[in-house]
Amino acid sequence: MHRSWLEVSLGRIAGNFRAVRAMVGQPVAVMPVVKADAYRHGAVAVARALEQAGAQWLAVSNVQEGAVLRDAGIQTRILVMADFLPGSREAFFDYGLTPVLHDLDEVAELEHLAARRAQPTAFHLKIDSGMGRLGVRDAAAPVAAAVQACRTAQLEGLMTHFASAADYGSAQTAEQTRYFFDLLAASGLRPAYIHLSSTIPIAYGRREAWGNMVRPGHAIYGYISPAKGPAPDRELAVTPALTWKTCVLTVKDIPAGAAIGYGAMFRAPKPMRIAILAAGYADGYPHRLSNKGKVLVQGRVCPVIGAVSMDVTTIDVTAVPALRPGDPVTLLGGEVDAQQIARTAGTISYAVLCGISSRVARMFVD
Ligand SMILES: *Cc1c(COP(=O)(O)O)cnc(C)c1O
Repeated sequence: MHRSWLEVSLGRIAGNFRAVRAMVGQPVAVMPVVKADAYRHGAVAVARALEQAGAQWLAVSNVQEGAVLRDAGIQTRILVMADFLPGSREAFFDYGLTPVLHDLDEVAELEHLAARRAQPTAFHLKIDSGMGRLGVRDAAAPVAAAVQACRTAQLEGLMTHFASAADYGSAQTAEQTRYFFDLLAASGLRPAYIHLSSTIPIAYGRREAWGNMVRPGHAIYGYISPAKGPAPDRELAVTPALTWKTCVLTVKDIPAGAAIGYGAMFRAPKPMRIAILAAGYADGYPHRLSNKGKVLVQGRVCPVIGAVSMDVTTIDVTAVPALRPGDPVTLLGGEVDAQQIARTAGTISYAVLCGISSRVARMFVD
């Protein structure tokens, strides 16, 4: 018996992976992103499901996330996208992880390590094509020289990341794509994998930015953020895989005028029946849903009233009088999905999912 738990459908995650694969077609490899505990869906179980569904690559953010997957027996290639810290470099060899390098000095460093261990190793190199975050900003000639100086380390992939993929009113994605392919051509390099696209450029069919590998995260979990501006039709259909539930602790009737919770943010306009739920912001339920959120109770939408507290949240269940302590309530699921919550809370769906805390139990369903 849990106070608050996630039900994660591994079947839907595998289905979303297959939908991406069907959309990009055979020549384009699909590397699902399972960083941040698979956007809180559970990295090990998700990685196993994806491996079983045929994924040959997975992407994580750091070495620790990769090591957890290896320790769990995952045998796909694992790309580590944002971690080549001095203290973690040996672990790439020990765990068979593939680094993304973001600096030409790191290329020399990896070559040095690989040569010393006499252990051939592949790496991917990230180009900063305009995102202004991780990635090399050097011109084609120094990039080519650094790569060609390697003997034991080998360039396997060249990649970049878009800053404004969802904004079809912006020229930035087209500019970044041009910058990237111009640099690739001028360098004369021929890496096995070329990858630029996460969920949005896949889902909206920006084929010129697919290269021969794509990196979907959000779509694997069933989400595609709405595009802005003159976007083409979305071509990919996916289904959210996660439902978040909690239990009713108490149900009670309050008179007109009663104040609810911290700061008396809500005052009952009439006699009401309220339920106190066993989840709050310590579980990751956003505090900004205070007096604004909606939950699903026996299929009906019920409003959050008063402040979301650390451990409990109060809802108006006047419309659902049969509710009893211990009954389940859906905090996230169905029509109240992560995007709907994000709009209400003034954040993004990624942050809603990643914000679900480790105090929330997790179970896997088909
Ligand atoms: C997180 C991440 C992705 C996945 O992005 P989604 O929008 O979730 O598909 C892809 N590439 C990089 C470099 C990332 O950091």
